[in-house]
Amino acid sequence: MNKLNDINSLARLTVQELTAYQSARKIGGTGTVWLNANEAPQTPCDELSLGDAKFNRYPEPQPSKLIARYADYAGLNPTQVLATRGGDEGIELVIRTFCEPTDSIVICPPTYGMYAISAKTAGVGVIEVMQTPSFGLDLDGIAKAMDTQAVKVVFVCSPNNPTGNVLPERELTALFELCAGRAMVVLDEAYIEYAQKSYVSQLAEYPHLAIIRTLSKAFGLAGLRCGFVLANSQVIELLSKVIAPYPIAVPVVVLAEQALSPSGIAKMQQAVLQTLAEKQRLASELKTLPSVEQVFDSETNYLLVRFNDSPKVFEQLWQAGIILRHQHHNPMLENCIRITVGSVSENDALLNQLRTVLL
Ligand SMILES: *Cc1c(COP(=O)(O)O)cnc(C)c1O
Repeated sequence: MNKLNDINSLARLTVQELTAYQSARKIGGTGTVWLNANEAPQTPCDELSLGDAKFNRYPEPQPSKLIARYADYAGLNPTQVLATRGGDEGIELVIRTFCEPTDSIVICPPTYGMYAISAKTAGVGVIEVMQTPSFGLDLDGIAKAMDTQAVKVVFVCSPNNPTGNVLPERELTALFELCAGRAMVVLDEAYIEYAQKSYVSQLAEYPHLAIIRTLSKAFGLAGLRCGFVLANSQVIELLSKVIAPYPIAVPVVVLAEQALSPSGIAKMQQAVLQTLAEKQRLASELKTLPSVEQVFDSETNYLLVRFNDSPKVFEQLWQAGIILRHQHHNPMLENCIRITVGSVSENDALLNQLRTVLL
C-alpha cells in the first residue's frame, strides 16, 4: 500500500466514498461562452468600491448594516436574517444544526445537488422522493418517508434548479403543514428575483421554515460568495451557534452593502428585466430548431431544454467553446441540457451554433 492510500484510509468512510460536487467550474472546458452556472451576464462591480476599508480587524460576526439592508430588501426584521458564505453555507448550516448522524433529510430530485452532498459530508442520511412527471412534489411519498425514518429537514427548491419551474402554492402549503412540529422545511429561493412570488411572508405562520437566498444569481455577484438564511429568530439563533465566528470577509461586507443600497437594488431589478426579455427571445428561437423537442417553462435565468440527441448537441457546442450544463444523466431529464440565459451576444452565439447542429 502506498502512502496516499494510507492517508485515504484514515479519512471518514463517508468521505472516502463521496464523489465531490461536480460544479460547473470543476467540469471545466475551454469555452468562450459560459452558459453553465446560471451566473448573471452583467455585474454591478464597476459601481462597487472598497473605499478606505481596512483589514487588520476581524469583521463583525454578523455585519449589522449588511443584515439591516437585506432585512429591508426582504421585508423582514434583522433578527430574521443570517448572512452566510453563499447560499451553500446556509444549506450546510441547517443540516449541521438540526440533524444528528442518525437523522435524514428528504430531497426531491431532480434538484440542486448540494443538499445531498452537504448531508453526506455530515454523515446524515438522504432520502430521495422523486418529483412527479410534471415536476411537482410527491407529498404522499414525503409523508411516508417521514413516517418511516427520522427526517429532520425537507429541502425544496422553488424556482427549482435545474428544471426552472416553481412549485404550486398548494403543494408548498401542504408541505409546510405536513412538517409542522416534526421537521424543518428549507425553501431554496436562489432564483427568486426572476420569479413572481416569494414565500417570505409565510415565516410569520411557520416557525419551521428557512429560506435560502444568495447574491450569486440576480445580483450578479457569484464571485463575492454572499448569501442569507431567512427564518424566525429562534432558528437564526440556533444557526448562529453553529456558523463559523467570522463568516463574511470585510471586503465582501463592504461590497455587498453597496449592492444592497436602493440604487444597487434598482440596478439588479433592471438587469432582471433584461434577462427575462432575453429568456423569452431565446425560448421562442429554440422552439423553432429541429434539434429541440421541448423548452420547459422557467421562472429563472435559465432554460431546461430537451433535445432529440443531447449528448451530440452538448459535445458539438462544447467543441465550439459554448459551455452548457448537461442533465442527461439525471433522473427524468434524459436528453436535457440546462442553458443559462446570457447576454444578447452570448445567446446569439449559442443560437447560431445550434442552427448548425445536423441530425
Ligand atoms: C446557485 C444556487 C445556490 C447558492 O449558490 P451560492 O453561490 O452558494 O450562493 C443555492 N441553491 C441553488 C438552487 C442554486 O442554484
